[in-house]
Amino acid sequence: MLELDEIHVYYGNIAAVKGLSLTVYPGEIVTLIGSNGAGKSTTLRAISGLLPVRRGTMTFLGRQLNGVPDHEVVRRGIAHSPEGRRIFPRMTVDENLDMGAFLRKDKEAISEDREMILELFPRLRERLDQKAGTMSGGEQQMLAVGRAMMARPQLLLLDEPSMGLAPVLVDVIFETIARIREQGTTVLLVEQNALAALDVADRAYVLESGSLKLHGPADELAEDQEIVKAYLGG
Ligand code: ATP
Repeated sequence: MLELDEIHVYYGNIAAVKGLSLTVYPGEIVTLIGSNGAGKSTTLRAISGLLPVRRGTMTFLGRQLNGVPDHEVVRRGIAHSPEGRRIFPRMTVDENLDMGAFLRKDKEAISEDREMILELFPRLRERLDQKAGTMSGGEQQMLAVGRAMMARPQLLLLDEPSMGLAPVLVDVIFETIARIREQGTTVLLVEQNALAALDVADRAYVLESGSLKLHGPADELAEDQEIVKAYLGG
């Protein structure tokens, strides 16, 4: 579905991603893990057209993705829930969800998806009229994921969905990711919480300083004590 072939991504003269290759197959949950600054968020930003790829190629559903502007990436079926809950704080929860569907015209399907999202996150349903900026951190995180889902993406990019959440909400988020996949959405997940990410994912890529360190089935990585010690903070 998604293929990155030796991509390089820079901030000015500084290379943040150096020759990364990875593949995501339809229906998978793939996680990208690694320490702070490893290049995980940068990789998601490149896929969603927020940062240019200087070398290498990205392909989505057989079409080249390099240089495609962010709104066109959404149109092609990729939605990005960015790090740090970038919701619209002065809009209500309801209005934020609507914004997620801004490129869609299929009114009936939009309201079905809205209903599905409110079932996934009952907390959002209780607070539809609340200004998003006054919601708790965890609620804003749910809203960010819900809004990305409103684009009805084929591929959902999730950047640190569990960041800053209380343990009980972390569990809710990971259960929700599993349910999102059951509903047919492929997921590329960036997480600091590596063990929880490996638990929900099928496969994992471990990044270090912008390069691929290793990759494999998530359960195998989680069981390898040396890998857990070296890369996963275990
Ligand atoms: P974290 O888990 O800490 O979010 P990450 O793996 O997502 O880390 P990135 O955010 O992709 O890491 O950052 C990769 C590198 O690029 C880091 O060295 C970071 O300092 C640098 N970087 C990120 N954003 C910018 C920016 N806007 N300008 C300059 N350098 C940046």
